[in-house]
Amino acid sequence: MISSSLRARRVPDRLGAPLNEPLFERLALIGIGLIGSSLARVARSKGLARTIVAADASGEVRAKTAELAIADKVAETAAAAVAGADLVILCAPVGAMGTIAQEIGPYLAPGAILSDVGSVKASIISAVAPHLPAGVHFVPAHPVAGTEYSGPEAGFATLFLNRWCILTPPDGADPKAVERLSAFWRAAGANVEIMQPAHHDLVLAITSHVPHLIAYNIVGTAADLEEVTRSEVIKFSAGGFRDFTRIAASDPIMWRDIFLNNKEAVLEMLGRFTEDLTALQRMIRRGDGQGLSDLFTRTRAIRRGIIEQGQETAAPDFGRRAGER
Ligand code: NAP
Repeated sequence: MISSSLRARRVPDRLGAPLNEPLFERLALIGIGLIGSSLARVARSKGLARTIVAADASGEVRAKTAELAIADKVAETAAAAVAGADLVILCAPVGAMGTIAQEIGPYLAPGAILSDVGSVKASIISAVAPHLPAGVHFVPAHPVAGTEYSGPEAGFATLFLNRWCILTPPDGADPKAVERLSAFWRAAGANVEIMQPAHHDLVLAITSHVPHLIAYNIVGTAADLEEVTRSEVIKFSAGGFRDFTRIAASDPIMWRDIFLNNKEAVLEMLGRFTEDLTALQRMIRRGDGQGLSDLFTRTRAIRRGIIEQGQETAAPDFGRRAGER
């Protein structure tokens, strides 16, 4: 059991008052799913931009965004949304970023900051940078925050609160633009860290991408078992399986794009994972109880560290309070 004396670090649990002055005049968000709609909501409630303009490839999503009234304007096209914007954030799946950059490039205002929220950084930089006119500051970002839900109704203003947002500015990026974007994310409740894009991709491969692959795999394996029925898998899921199903319910398109665009880092980490899994198999086969308990003791300490840093709560039920996503 995790000790009841373990106390999470005190972290803010609300967004706080709106800013006196907006940080940007016109914020354009392209792709209004979980992340884009959460950004629209927090930008509105914290007064981060004077005007918020939303665009999405899907007419249905545009209509829902207008109905939810989470942006000041809903544009028909990404090009129309970015005209006159001093901050543009691409919030579409990783594989769509290059096409959007090609579409909006000619309409970006000189001096504008272009950013994104994609879960992979090096491949997005290669896909987006060639389409940007001189005078536009490209500062890629990745908020390490999310849920397994998608679409404009899934978003909420506190999604980024006390989560990390990693900025990966290319060499030679304007420090003022990096600082302005950092200030935006801090005002949205996030902690900001700067990283090299390749390092980001390696870190996220082990902390996010490989864990998702493992969850997709174990849920897939259970679904394909013949000697255990599907109803038994669901009925007895509280034994651990259920926690994997939450991750394995994540958006299929988003995750397809992540694996296709972070191939090298994921394969490298998967190689390490496979070696360690083989070592575990050997411990079980040889009855090496000491080896198993040593490993499980080390892994418990990792969980404690996550709780102490306020990235999870010690509450039961996978740390999720009733009603929390
Ligand atoms: P989402 O809920 O599926 O929303 C993505 C939206 O982008 C959808 O409405 C989609 O429309 C739209 N879109 C697709 N192609 C487009 C295009 N060419 N132009 C304009 N809009 C387009 O996804 P999300 O979870 O918000 O993820 C968005 C981005 O955030 C991804 O790059 C992801 O890697 C990153 N991210 C996600 C999480 C997370 O946990 N979900 C966390 C951090 C970062 P359709 O529905 O018609 O395709």
